[in-house]
Amino acid sequence: MEKGGYFESEHMNQRDEDMVPLLWKNSGANLTDDLRIAIAQGSCLGGSTIINDAVCFDTPDIVRKQWREMGVDISDKEWDEATKEVSENIHITR
Ligand SMILES: Cc1cc2nc3c(=O)[nH]c(=O)nc-3n(C[C@H](O)[C@H](O)[C@H](O)COP(=O)(O)OP(=O)(O)OC[C@H]3O[C@@H](n4cnc5c(N)ncnc54)[C@H](O)[C@@H]3O)c2cc1C
Repeated sequence: MEKGGYFESEHMNQRDEDMVPLLWKNSGANLTDDLRIAIAQGSCLGGSTIINDAVCFDTPDIVRKQWREMGVDISDKEWDEATKEVSENIHITR
């Protein structure tokens, strides 16, 4: 189940005033209860990936370490292979 709508590229016009209300959670006005922190998050099929900047980098070692401490059980070899496969699939370039 997905709370937000389903949008294709033809629904997108690269204009923030149209896209933020359409794709962002709470139309972009998504704040903590005390109103001190704005939380940017997508609310559409595809989630925040739809609205993000598409900057891609390898998972830093410290993050792998933290996830392992939380129980993620993936070897470095599996991780590197999966990263390579995803990078190729989404055509990451410099
Ligand atoms: C503006 C912006 C720029 C970013 N740029 C980058 C970048 O360049 N590189 C990078 O690596 N990361 C970037 N990120 C971060 C990255 O996009 C997110 O970390 C990632 O998309 C989070 O994925 P997720 O699946 O955990 O959550 P989300 O993608 O947020 O998915 C949550 C989904 O759940 C749905 N949902 C919420 N509540 C309900 C409910 N009650 N019932 C049903 N569905 C619900 C939402 O609509 C959404 O589709 C960016 C994020 C933002 C907001």
